[in-house]
Amino acid sequence: MLFLRNNGNAAAMSIGLMGGTFDPIHMGHLVTAEEARQQFDLNYVIFVPTGNPPHKEKETISLPEHRYLMTSLAVMSNPYFFVSTVEINSKTPTYTIDTVRHFSGSEKEGPEVYFITGADAILEIFTWKDYEELLRLCTFIAVSRPGYSLDRFRESLNRACPEMVNKVHLLEIPALAVSSTYIRERAALGKTIKYLTPEPVEQYIKKHDLYLSG
Ligand code: NAP
Repeated sequence: MLFLRNNGNAAAMSIGLMGGTFDPIHMGHLVTAEEARQQFDLNYVIFVPTGNPPHKEKETISLPEHRYLMTSLAVMSNPYFFVSTVEINSKTPTYTIDTVRHFSGSEKEGPEVYFITGADAILEIFTWKDYEELLRLCTFIAVSRPGYSLDRFRESLNRACPEMVNKVHLLEIPALAVSSTYIRERAALGKTIKYLTPEPVEQYIKKHDLYLSG
């Protein structure tokens, strides 16, 4: 992916990396990315579907090709949104530090990077590969669903990883009442998923018989 910078204005470029499994992507993810883009004045948001996540080896998730294509269909109408294949094309387990290094470029000239993902995942960050370098390279946007206690999040973060407190912004997104799990469960029961995910994604799920087995 090519990032064009204005001469002498490299530091002004900010990008959001939206990390997640996206199985499937839904309206909550899109609202989240758009809200983050506006609040943090991001030039772009790049969705990065996970490839071969080391922490999920035993779980069954849809093929990376399906998750990538659904994500691409979902972001099509937003000129600020892109999708990266950097994790799904990797033959080895993928770590966020490698993805962030990929987009940061050289530290002085690269864009300012915000990593956007679920608040629960961020609470585990001290278990992630090279997390100290990650804290140096990017700022985190921890996204929560309605009903999630932000006070509890701050306490947990302070306990788990005090050096992170100033590097994390919390974003509560009411539209995240929708979850990928909820969509998969509904699809497995033959219930409608209309309006929970963009229509092209809904069509893709039907066409490829995704999630039928629950
Ligand atoms: P996940 O299983 O897809 O999601 C965990 C929870 O967070 C779910 O409730 C999910 O809701 C929500 N969520 C996930 N991505 C979100 C997003 N971008 N915006 C809002 N909510 C989101 O994800 P995960 O496996 O925990 O991983 C999340 C990110 O952290 C990925 O980019 C992953 O690569 C990274 N990670 C890295 C390491 C490492 O480097 N060692 C370890 C763990 C995670 P939905 O199901 O509705 O999406």
